[in-house]
Amino acid sequence: MQGITAKQSLLKRQVELSTRLKAVELDLHKAYNQDSGEQAVERENDEVLEAIASETAKELAQIDRALSKLGTDQYGSCDQCGEPIGNERLEVLPTATTCISCAQSH
Ligand SMILES: [Zn+2]
Repeated sequence: MQGITAKQSLLKRQVELSTRLKAVELDLHKAYNQDSGEQAVERENDEVLEAIASETAKELAQIDRALSKLGTDQYGSCDQCGEPIGNERLEVLPTATTCISCAQSH
């Protein structure tokens, strides 16, 4: 049951993030076509958008990784120490690939 729940929330998050990434990329593309008068402002916006885009892409990659581990007995195990990550942590953060103590030691 827990596996199904995790998969559902991962897939839901994946859709959310893909939608956001597409929107941000559209915005970035639009920004390049702006009047030169607004370029200073647009450039600042671009930096924010690029940061959002790279964060989003990073989380999408984590979701892909978690999804590929899902259904194998590797899902829910810490990448670093091999201990169980714990259902509570996975509920809050289904993309977690390390347990809370390994995550905190970074
Ligand atoms: Zn660990």
